Amino acid sequence: MVRFIAAVTIALALAACQAEEPAASTPPAPPPQPTTTISSQNVSDLRIAKRLFGATPVASSQPAQSFGGYARGCQAGAQQLAETGPTWQAMRLSRNRNWAQPETIGFVQDLSRFAATQPGWEGLYIGDMSQPRGGPMLTGHRSHQTGLDIDVWMLPPDRLDLSVPEREALSSISMRRERGAFTNDSWTPQHEAIIRAAASDPRVARIFIFPGAKVAMCNSATGDRAWLNKVRPWWGHHYHFHVRMNCPEGAAGCTNQAPPPAGDGCADAQQWVNNILNPPPPNPNAPPPAPRAELTMANLPGQCLDVLNAQ
Ligand SMILES: [Zn+2]
Repeated sequence: MVRFIAAVTIALALAACQAEEPAASTPPAPPPQPTTTISSQNVSDLRIAKRLFGATPVASSQPAQSFGGYARGCQAGAQQLAETGPTWQAMRLSRNRNWAQPETIGFVQDLSRFAATQPGWEGLYIGDMSQPRGGPMLTGHRSHQTGLDIDVWMLPPDRLDLSVPEREALSSISMRRERGAFTNDSWTPQHEAIIRAAASDPRVARIFIFPGAKVAMCNSATGDRAWLNKVRPWWGHHYHFHVRMNCPEGAAGCTNQAPPPAGDGCADAQQWVNNILNPPPPNPNAPPPAPRAELTMANLPGQCLDVLNAQ
């Protein structure tokens, strides 16, 4: 029960990763529908998927593989990120979301090693990745289902010997001001350097961060600007940034998101900021948002039933 309450509290505090499937990030338009991968195997299985995946405590003993899309999938053979490493700590262990595909684990370790070279940073505090077998969650995220999404705390780690209870109690810090139109005084060049390193990594597909931070980086970036393409403005994401990995090389059954539109995306991010500062009037012809149905096992790729049932 305590664990449940903690999870709900954190979910409310970090209600940032609820909808992370922007294709072309057009400012406040409703998010496009996630890529759907419909099962041919589970067609009549109407069990609510998050209850099943949320109740499974360990990874499946299968070869490592991601199935489906970031917001409609699962993962086989996940690895658990070590709770504490030389340059990282996994936070909020009670959530049991420090599981991911091997490529993701390797990336986290590499990025944390780079972060540890930055003044004021001992490494990285790592937030949610995925559940042991991925899939939908009872609280907190729509994506993070395939072992390819990582939340990285914005709080610069000043020590990496936090106890388990300390990692439940400690909170990250917000980087935003004016509802996300600008960064605040906690934002540093080291944040930019770490995000730049992440975005420059070929394993990474996208990074989600609040619009003011993207614009700040557009204004301060020097030299090659190609990395800015992967840094996408999105709602929330001021306590953490979200790294989304590409499907691993040759991973059949794993669905990539369409790449971001060409260019540095800076004009688009500026438009987000303008819309925060001067919200456009609501469109009277906009259709009402469709109610979001719970994902059933039938909505997931067929392999996800095997993942769920595997040892
Ligand atoms: Zn996230």
